[in-house]
Amino acid sequence: MKKQKKWSKNRHQIFKWGLQAFFQPYTKTKYGFSFKTFRDTKRRPYLILTNHQTTMDQFMFAMCFPKLVYMVATEDIFSIPIASDVIRYAVAPIPFVKAQKNVSTILTCKRIVKEGCSIMMQPEGNRTYSGQTEYINPSVSKLAKMLKVPLAFMVLHGGYGVRPRWSHTVRRGKCHCQVEEVLEYDQYKDWTDDQLYQYICQRLYVDESNDGKEYFSNRLAEYVERAIYYCPNCGITHFHSQGNKFHCTTCGMEMEYLPNKQIVLSNGQKAPYSNVKEWMFAQNDYVQSLPIKVTDKPIITDKVNWYLTKLHKHKKLIAKNVELQLYLDKVQLKTKYQTHTFNYCDVTSVIAMGKNKLGITTKDANYQIKGDVRFCPVKYVNLYYHFVAQQQNPKPEKEFLGL
Ligand SMILES: [Zn+2]
Repeated sequence: MKKQKKWSKNRHQIFKWGLQAFFQPYTKTKYGFSFKTFRDTKRRPYLILTNHQTTMDQFMFAMCFPKLVYMVATEDIFSIPIASDVIRYAVAPIPFVKAQKNVSTILTCKRIVKEGCSIMMQPEGNRTYSGQTEYINPSVSKLAKMLKVPLAFMVLHGGYGVRPRWSHTVRRGKCHCQVEEVLEYDQYKDWTDDQLYQYICQRLYVDESNDGKEYFSNRLAEYVERAIYYCPNCGITHFHSQGNKFHCTTCGMEMEYLPNKQIVLSNGQKAPYSNVKEWMFAQNDYVQSLPIKVTDKPIITDKVNWYLTKLHKHKKLIAKNVELQLYLDKVQLKTKYQTHTFNYCDVTSVIAMGKNKLGITTKDANYQIKGDVRFCPVKYVNLYYHFVAQQQNPKPEKEFLGL
């Protein structure tokens, strides 16, 4: 049998130092970032589990950990022309496909640990939209037990304030990360999967939606409409943001986003929800109250580009400037010549990717849908999962809406 090549290469450490030399001063100046270096006296691999608050946080976490570490990364970064080849050559991330079984990811992790290197993973999968740690998939505890390594919990604080997922600008403020705890394999090996899962969730839990800290910019509200799509007066709608303000395009209600991450009406009065977390909870409640029925008219539409994606292959454009239509039981893509329907019962997952992209997976193919800068993929994710929950028997008391 042919011997498998080693995953870890000397060049990865050299690139890591190089990246750190660039990103350390950059993140310090731009993001107000500080960190505490993790000094482990024992030469051994770790599974490093982190929260996921901001675009740059993987570089931030890597700085805390001086030794060679491989990141588990979503498929998105493997389909960018040229850049993905460079990334693979330089730091060899471990590919992971969201919302699917990832047997090869697990095998690669095992192989890396065997080579004595550590693995870094953001088990939320989704960068937080609200400042609160998002849903964590329970499979993380199975992976930890399989790897039989100590778990290092590395937590970033302030990342949501400095650059929320929905925003396109960095605010003046501070963020910090460090390893907050190491859990030895001997400590957790006899725990049940659920016990370990609960522990992991608790260690990575932060809620920075209303912590009193302030972050400054003159574009604080910009692109909050990537996360918020529900108006208490109008239901599912489009919002439009500019500077520190945003408004509902249907009823005109206007809000202001304050440096302390709270929301007020632009006349200074109390807003219906006082921050993005409360707003998203309210929109989840609204979605859960919707009956599943077949309708002729879409609830809302967006203009998008539609791509076909394959892991390790560049994405292929199917059609540009398509109308994406959201229904209670399906989504449709309407081009000039035809309408393509994704019935939710034929779809296996719907995910929000990055800032303004939507991933739709069926039994046969993966599609990516990219909207304009204001596009909100969250509503498509929420409505798909609401449909899925409604098909369950018995129906869950609280629905998981995909985030
Ligand atoms: Zn409205």
